[in-house]
Amino acid sequence: MDSPLTQLLNRADLTGHVIGYDETRRWPAQDRDAILRLGILRKAADAEYATCEICADGEPCDLILDIGPDPRIHCPQHGLVRIAWERLQQWELDFQKLGLFLIGQLGLTGGMNTIPPGRIWQLGRRQVSGRTAEFFLVQGIAWPDSLDVLRAAPKLAGSPAPIIVCPDQLPLEAMWRESGRAFLRLTEWARIHDGHLVVDFEAYADLYRQTAEAFEKPLTPTPPERRERLIEEFCKTHGCKVKQVYTWAAVDRGDLNRWKNGDPTIPDGGEPAMRIERLLQLDQRSRA
Ligand SMILES: [Zn+2]
Repeated sequence: MDSPLTQLLNRADLTGHVIGYDETRRWPAQDRDAILRLGILRKAADAEYATCEICADGEPCDLILDIGPDPRIHCPQHGLVRIAWERLQQWELDFQKLGLFLIGQLGLTGGMNTIPPGRIWQLGRRQVSGRTAEFFLVQGIAWPDSLDVLRAAPKLAGSPAPIIVCPDQLPLEAMWRESGRAFLRLTEWARIHDGHLVVDFEAYADLYRQTAEAFEKPLTPTPPERRERLIEEFCKTHGCKVKQVYTWAAVDRGDLNRWKNGDPTIPDGGEPAMRIERLLQLDQRSRA
């Protein structure tokens, strides 16, 4: 069984997620108290259904609110059963509060900025492995609209090798993995220890360093007369066809050909040429 913190972080990856009172009562008291004390949960609307407490594994039933002061349900086995109001409480993860918590925990400077429409929080920056890294917290990075969210956030899109904090899920779209972006999954790197939420950042920083170094490694453009040969060698090493080269580099076939021929419409240092060079020289794929 996952820890309460992991359950909460997994839930926060769902749209319109809530955590119900009954669920929190199943958590070990120490963990529940710690999570509630952190202040990263906020009250959501009360549940509109409840399960019978007498039945061991009763199905959720609609609430009946017009018989007496307390809500009731109609249990198929026990008839009308009274439900305590407190059992209807629900909470959701408050990303803004989580962001403020991370700023304090990781010692970030620059202040928090919520980027509309409210799925990305700019958390500030700090030195990591000898370079200044910007931090962003993202909700729903694997949701179907996540590329729209990225495109609407030029501060994130234009940040070199930033650290993207996400509850659990990683992006499914290759574009999220460009620009040396490194991902810090809280299910992997955060835990409750002695009643506090702790991020094992020192261990994570080593992984980040590798990602940032690969991103910053200077690429010398391949002279046009050696490009055809470079593609052939890559295909031979990887046992692949040219189709994989332009697919993995996320360019179209025409662009790859124009680059190979030194066509000025694909200039050195431009994004298509960089993707091709990163693939052929460093084996870094822009698309799976
Ligand atoms: Zn019952």
